[in-house]
Amino acid sequence: MTQRIIDLLRNGQPNETVTVKGWVRTKREQKEFTFIEVNDGSSMAGLQVVVNQDVPGYAETMKRISTGASVEIAGTLVESPAKGQRIELRTDSIIVYGEADPETYPLQKKRHSFEFLREIAHLRSRTNTLGAVFRVRNAASAAIHQFFQERGFLWIHTPIISASDCEGAGEMFTVTGFDLNKVPLTADKQVDYSKDFFGRQAYLTVSGQLEAEIMAMAFSNVYTFGPTFRAENSNTSRHLAEFWMVEPEMAFCDLEGDMNLAEEFLKSVFQHVMNTCPEDMEFFNQRIDNSVLATADNIINNEFARVTYTEAIALLEKSGKTFEYPVEWGLDMQSEHERYLAEEYFKKPTIVTDYPAHIKAFYMRLNDDGKTVRAMDILAPKIGEIIGGSQREERLDVLEQRIQDVGLDPAPYWWYLDLRRYGTVPHAGFGLGFERLVQFMTGMGNIRDVIPFPRAPQEVEF
Ligand code: ATP
Ligand code: MN
Repeated sequence: MTQRIIDLLRNGQPNETVTVKGWVRTKREQKEFTFIEVNDGSSMAGLQVVVNQDVPGYAETMKRISTGASVEIAGTLVESPAKGQRIELRTDSIIVYGEADPETYPLQKKRHSFEFLREIAHLRSRTNTLGAVFRVRNAASAAIHQFFQERGFLWIHTPIISASDCEGAGEMFTVTGFDLNKVPLTADKQVDYSKDFFGRQAYLTVSGQLEAEIMAMAFSNVYTFGPTFRAENSNTSRHLAEFWMVEPEMAFCDLEGDMNLAEEFLKSVFQHVMNTCPEDMEFFNQRIDNSVLATADNIINNEFARVTYTEAIALLEKSGKTFEYPVEWGLDMQSEHERYLAEEYFKKPTIVTDYPAHIKAFYMRLNDDGKTVRAMDILAPKIGEIIGGSQREERLDVLEQRIQDVGLDPAPYWWYLDLRRYGTVPHAGFGLGFERLVQFMTGMGNIRDVIPFPRAPQEVEF
């Protein structure tokens, strides 16, 4: 049976006979034997393989092997005389599945820029950095499910095709069955969506929250973890057109409970990743951002800072800094403000609560002051907003008024209002941008490098 290289590196014993399959990272030919480093993606480190010239077909096989070639190697583990590894593999037989012509294979030994690697996204996962990113991404995904499952949250699958614009921001992709060369028009030359596939305009979802609220009113605690889409044309290092969101929703829960869960959640996911991917995290700390391990330690071991929006604005005003966007109460905080608070002032994740109602979505619970809502954003050093959450407005009359005040048509929200009509309860939840979390954990500068196949303006391949 084929063994995973990570298991051999951790637990393999001298004299064990094993078979490994993977891709050649390096080949170093000596006089009478050749060193090959084989990587199967299970860990950052590969297995050092020694191929003596008495291995059948040695000369022929070595000619076919170069960086990138795929191989199957059977042999015996031995203690490694060299530094840097505990064991190595002494080869009995070797099969080459596929060659990788060194003249054209783009991933030769030298380091490549992330921009270049994005152009070869079909190959970049074979590099050290992207390999580490996607292992951490996997570990974080598993940790998210584990966290919620241990607490009895139901994982619900919210739709990807949606009829409602949850944020009211209008940054949505339309899903259509029309032949775009022959789009039916109404009498006043508007697109006639009544003739479209769904009989009305439909979109790719920007959030699963409204549907999660429906399910929380039956199962108490639920979460979604799935793709969401935004047609925002913001070409930043923190925005994608397709990204994954984690959205828990809890019935019988207020903002306090929501913040506590979010903090416990981030701590738990970081801890899990540190436990399962220590080598990868060490690598990020060494090669990408030397604050990665300190950040993880900070998240796991310190309480998050908590301030109200009003207090946060006062801190920004007192900071003595000149911001590109001037600070005043009512301002929708920009990244520069968020980063000042989390990175410079508190030096740790910071939860800002009770934002002005007019800069937040209509469904957030109105405070007694009539001006602010029970919202909370968690701001992370370097990243800015990583989580956005709120206690939801559970009072039918207040919610109806809010929908009217923000100028939305209440009709499409009939089912959302029904939840307040029948068995309404205080409830709360939050949304975490999963790629922002992976960026935060790994120190990767560009969000396009923490998702295997990034979709962004002018960017879709594969
Ligand atoms: P931002 O102000 O950074 O654009 P937002 O206010 O639009 O964020 P929300 O609508 O609250 O964000 O979405 C919830 C979470 O999803 C955010 O906290 C963030 O982590 C993540 N997120 C939002 N937009 C994107 C995007 N385009 N790409 C990746 N993640 C995103
Ligand atoms: Mn946005």
